[in-house]
Amino acid sequence: MITRVWIEPGCIVCKLCEETCPEVFDVTPTDCVVRPDADLTRAERIKHATEECPVSVIRFEEGP
Ligand code: SF4
Repeated sequence: MITRVWIEPGCIVCKLCEETCPEVFDVTPTDCVVRPDADLTRAERIKHATEECPVSVIRFEEGP
């Protein structure tokens, strides 16, 4: 189960993560943020977005 998602500095605002998982990622005109009400049960999509990010700045932690 994913317990935390965050974005390290370096986002290039490509919007891919929001297209893949809009329940978690919110891409603004200048940055990408994790929504305050992010649905962390979308584990597969979060992992997919993490793999897709062209600059590898999406991070997540998994718990039991
Ligand atoms: S996929 Fe990566 S670079 Fe693209 S908007 Fe999301 S965090 Fe930023």
